[in-house]
Amino acid sequence: MESDIKLADVPILLQSAPLWMPTAIKEVRQVTPTIKALRFDVPWGDAFRAGQCIDFRLTAADGYTAQRYYSIATAPDASKTVEVMVERQEGGEVSTFFHDILELGDLLEVRGPIGGGPFTWQPSDPGPILLIGGGSGVVPLLSMVRHRQAVGSHTPFTLIYSAKTHDDILAREELLAAAADDPHLQLVITLTRESVIRPGFRIGRLTKEVVRSTLRGAWSRPETCFICGSNAFVGDMSDYLLEEGLEIHQVRTERFGG
Ligand SMILES: Cc1cc2nc3c(=O)[nH]c(=O)nc-3n(C[C@H](O)[C@H](O)[C@H](O)COP(=O)(O)OP(=O)(O)OC[C@H]3O[C@@H](n4cnc5c(N)ncnc54)[C@H](O)[C@@H]3O)c2cc1C
Repeated sequence: MESDIKLADVPILLQSAPLWMPTAIKEVRQVTPTIKALRFDVPWGDAFRAGQCIDFRLTAADGYTAQRYYSIATAPDASKTVEVMVERQEGGEVSTFFHDILELGDLLEVRGPIGGGPFTWQPSDPGPILLIGGGSGVVPLLSMVRHRQAVGSHTPFTLIYSAKTHDDILAREELLAAAADDPHLQLVITLTRESVIRPGFRIGRLTKEVVRSTLRGAWSRPETCFICGSNAFVGDMSDYLLEEGLEIHQVRTERFGG
């Protein structure tokens, strides 16, 4: 599934699958040592909900296809440009294609937005909101934070973000600047494999105690919690929140696998 993919074939496939559409990659950036951000336009780029994702389909010359979901990292925007952030999974079929083979201007088949259900945030939703992201699981939460900023919402948001190291923090400077400027945006970043101690960053795994102390230090109990990351991460965080007395309908989860 690597070098034999013929991206030029993509528009032909559309004739039998009207939901899919080709889009040209406008920008590719290495945003952390293991994550690349891809930007492209979609007709609904101004009208999706933060938390939604995009379905990608790669088709090889022999007709073999691979489909994967990637969450949208950006907020809805009049430019209709969206960004996804793909973490490289060693041995992974699609993420290694995005990292090693995809080039600027290539056409990709996409459809979306996918997932308009409970794992989405809109400015009219009641707060406070608690977001908990592990690794690339922070991506849909980033879209929520960005959407809140873009519309000037004052809904209290707390983002608890577990990354491996300081260099692995997605949108690090943007998040730190946003939290510094906004008394209603609280940021708790914990680094699981960092050796350098820096003010403002916790070192170590995201434990029940960290979640509990954040909950108790927050303005008031969250109305809704969004958790995203690997299966194990989401399972642990959901358990912690339920043990803290949150109701099951208040805890919304998305699992990236792993
Ligand atoms: C709703 C949703 C949103 C998502 N959003 C994002 C996002 O924003 N960013 C992001 O990076 N990911 C996201 N994901 C995950 C993404 O869809 C892919 O699952 C991920 O990129 C891995 O795909 P892959 O093709 O590279 O790996 P796959 O080929 O699917 O393999 C996954 C892992 O399994 C291992 N593996 C594969 N085959 C075998 C085998 N035979 N034996 C042992 N191990 C094997 C691989 O080494 C790899 O580590 C999301 C998932 C969902 C469901």
